Amino acid sequence: MLPFTHAKPSTSEDAVSLVLGSDRGQATRARTQFVAGGTNMTDYMKLGVARPGQLVDLNGLEDGAFRQIKVSPSEIRLGALVHMSEVEDHPEIQKLLPVLTDSLRLAASRQIRNMATIGGNILQRTRCEYFRETSWPCNKRNPGSGCAALEGFNRQHAVLGGSSSCIATYHGDLAQALVALDATVEVHGARGRRRLAFADLHRLPGETPEIETTIRADEIITSLTFPIAPWMARSTYLKIRDRQSYAFALASAAVVLDLDGTIVREARIALGGLATVPWRAREAEAELQGKPLDEETCARAAKVAFADATPRKDNGFKIALGRQTLVRALLETRDMRI
Ligand SMILES: Cc1cc2nc3c(=O)[nH]c(=O)nc-3n(C[C@H](O)[C@H](O)[C@H](O)COP(=O)(O)OP(=O)(O)OC[C@H]3O[C@@H](n4cnc5c(N)ncnc54)[C@H](O)[C@@H]3O)c2cc1C
Ligand code: SF4
Repeated sequence: MLPFTHAKPSTSEDAVSLVLGSDRGQATRARTQFVAGGTNMTDYMKLGVARPGQLVDLNGLEDGAFRQIKVSPSEIRLGALVHMSEVEDHPEIQKLLPVLTDSLRLAASRQIRNMATIGGNILQRTRCEYFRETSWPCNKRNPGSGCAALEGFNRQHAVLGGSSSCIATYHGDLAQALVALDATVEVHGARGRRRLAFADLHRLPGETPEIETTIRADEIITSLTFPIAPWMARSTYLKIRDRQSYAFALASAAVVLDLDGTIVREARIALGGLATVPWRAREAEAELQGKPLDEETCARAAKVAFADATPRKDNGFKIALGRQTLVRALLETRDMRI
């Protein structure tokens, strides 16, 4: 690990100006970086993947809103420094939005969830093995160096949203639930506060996989907000992985359903472990709209969801696995007792 300095400001204005004073690079490559729980950042500093010269520690921020969970009848707001386990344990959220609770409960380990924050979770970087091992070429870590995964062992890699520069999956779980919930992100930076749709936060790799998000180096995530309705209690996150605990998803599906009997009024679907970004499956949603939710319609929607999938040497199995995961998640959500 390289030497670095550590600052712990008490206001977000000070935090922003510390970053601004040092550089204005893209958030994930800047020399000065924010740190919250540190579970992703320090891991990647030890591996030499992240090489910040300065860490701006957000844990000193005094504004209570950063640590608050607010539940109203129409909206939930999560401060960015709320720990994953606090949301997971929230009794009202467990009742109102099982998809959110499940996505957290199935992530990492309880020890990590006690330490890791909501803001840090959604900005965690990929677990692509070649990205994590600095002796390999990797366009995301070292732009222009090539992508070792394209011809290498790519069993874990993406079948949706990849490019000829990068096929790394987005590895987190919570983000799929947030995409399906139409969440909004609030950020605070040198140019003030702004809000953006969560679905616009993560960027497809294209030719610049090193630019992973649409937030700037000086912008702090302050909160996540999403509208809620009673029908959203019919929601699930299904995660398929190599072992039953402490593993990232090979395939996952967040499903939120509004049903009139068995007829679909609205279906919201997001896929994980299969794509380069948290993946909203809008074509599959449209395929289900107004139809009875049965095995046949679910299988058709799942086929549509993977119509543009691109298999690589070792990950072709993910297309069938992704379809089966989606069908199972849809049917289990339909059959929930709420
Ligand atoms: C062994 C292991 C297994 C794991 N398994 C899973 C899993 O199954 N599913 C899953 O979803 N995750 C998993 N994780 C990842 C874990 O959930 C993340 O490391 C964690 O959520 C990151 O949160 P943090 O607060 O520690 O972030 P940090 O490490 O502090 O930061 C991560 C990134 O976010 C930035 N950042 C943090 N907060 C803010 C903010 N408010 N504004 C702007 N930028 C910010 C940092 O600059 C950094 O780039 C696993 C991690 C480990 C080590
Ligand atoms: S898939 Fe992306 S992260 Fe992995 S080696 Fe290729 S460029 Fe790097």
